[in-house]
Amino acid sequence: PLSLSDTVEAHRICVCVRKRPLNNKEVTKNDIDVVSIPGNGTLLLHEPKQKVDLTKYLDNQVFHFDYSFDESSTNDLVYRFTAKPLVQTIFDGGMATCFAYGQTGSGKTHTMGGDFSGKSQNSAKGIYAMAAQDVFALLKQRRYSSLDLCPYVTFFEIYNSKVFDLLNKKAKLRVLEDEKQQVQVVGLQEMYVSCAEDVIKMIEMGSACRTSGQTSANANSSRSHAILQVILRRRNQVHGKFSLVDLAGNERGIDVRSSDRQTLVETAEINRSLLALKECIRSLGMDSHHIPFRMSKLTQVLRDSFIGENSRTCMIAMVSPGMSSCDSTVNTLRYADRVK
Ligand code: ADP
Ligand code: MG
Repeated sequence: PLSLSDTVEAHRICVCVRKRPLNNKEVTKNDIDVVSIPGNGTLLLHEPKQKVDLTKYLDNQVFHFDYSFDESSTNDLVYRFTAKPLVQTIFDGGMATCFAYGQTGSGKTHTMGGDFSGKSQNSAKGIYAMAAQDVFALLKQRRYSSLDLCPYVTFFEIYNSKVFDLLNKKAKLRVLEDEKQQVQVVGLQEMYVSCAEDVIKMIEMGSACRTSGQTSANANSSRSHAILQVILRRRNQVHGKFSLVDLAGNERGIDVRSSDRQTLVETAEINRSLLALKECIRSLGMDSHHIPFRMSKLTQVLRDSFIGENSRTCMIAMVSPGMSSCDSTVNTLRYADRVK
């Protein structure tokens, strides 16, 4: 069961970085590890022992975050310092959001626990599942059982500014904003869940839906944002909402001349939405009354997460350790640095 005393107090905005281990492919290609996590939230982008020119990065070698997780960190540890403290927020009637950010292949889906391809043995032990378990543990506690909270789940994808319901055969949905600026995803399936296993089943179903139809050359799933929401309702009104977002890959170095039109459109759209997200989180951090949530579909559907007294956000920036990923890694670290 959730015990907040053994976790950390939730900051309004928490920004962390997680480094994954070098994988076999990188080892085979003699890629070298250029990322060190000395601890205390620090990340060091360092010169490899071999003579490789890193001078263009040298102006910004050391980065500081709330927490930094090295390649030996487990999902469990990452969860405990990132999403876990946010579970309490939704019981207290707030909005919580946790983002996984980083280039394709850096570990976003692994961390969230949305990989049900069969290769990953630990999909049930990602942040999605652990958060679901803690939600149900809290629901059973006496101080909350009297509130009559009912848990629901939605799971959807935003691809090229269009919303698709992962719990309803990828139905394309419209987003409407009423005169009170309330944003609604029309027809989005909100499934009642009675236990953590129910949530895991939904994630499994939705993740399978997410990856179907993708080509390996241009995996759709890495070009879209996937949003899982756990909603607590009280007498049909939203009491609290936890959004767990597996963001589209932010890769650098897409060659404008050799890429097809679709890739360029996708890339422009991803950049636009990630920029909008950065601006919204920064506004939240500055307690600004103007949150530019209309800048993108992603921020529009997450509007609730950026407004209100009790909104908390956590961003986990994922980095690949290899020299060959340096461009994207620097990009990720600068982005995360701007958000905090
Ligand atoms: P992304 O969703 O960012 O594109 P994935 O989560 O799919 O990346 O990760 C790419 C590959 O690396 C997967 O095979 C995944 O299992 C593996 N991987 C990612 N992070 C880790 C980690 N921390 N430890 C071990 N393997 C990892
Ligand atoms: Mg992924």
